[in-house]
Amino acid sequence: MPTESPREWLPADASRPDVEIRRSARRQKTIAARWEGDHIVLLAPRSLSRKLAAEYVHRLLPRLMAEARNAEKDPRRTDAHLADRAAELSARYLNRRVGPTRIRWVTNQNTRWGSTTPSTGSIRISHHLWGAPEYVLDYVIHHELCHLIEPSHDARFKRLEALYPHVDRAKTFLDGMIFERSRTERPAGPSA
Ligand SMILES: [Zn+2]
Repeated sequence: MPTESPREWLPADASRPDVEIRRSARRQKTIAARWEGDHIVLLAPRSLSRKLAAEYVHRLLPRLMAEARNAEKDPRRTDAHLADRAAELSARYLNRRVGPTRIRWVTNQNTRWGSTTPSTGSIRISHHLWGAPEYVLDYVIHHELCHLIEPSHDARFKRLEALYPHVDRAKTFLDGMIFERSRTERPAGPSA
């Protein structure tokens, strides 16, 4: 039987839900937090004290609670939805040749719709796509999946991208969004 390391928890209090601290020796300084079901998981370096962990969660809580409210309003605003779409798009158009190791929404990406780190297989999708039609979100995810095969925008990439049937329609929609945003705030650039 596999031995499981004991799970470490910060119990819920009035201000927040349960927090599981998941420590990793490989994680040096960075700390990240995300929802898993009804509780928060804090990914932390092995040496982080419980007091500091609680402080970090406290600091990250407004963003996490906003995320939860968004997910309640629209389940498509969850990372799980992105993972589902990526799996289906890879199966349908790319013969399951690629799957991201991690795909998530980010709120700090204002100049690209999506971005990919081919070396780690990690994909980030801009929250500016919240509420966009499904074929537009699918296009951006498909574009990023293609980058896991071909990092550049060369001819090979264009052939892979063209396997998705709504490229032109989606690009037209995104151009419209850029135009709209340019009139009100900082423009978003084209997808990465
Ligand atoms: Zn690109």
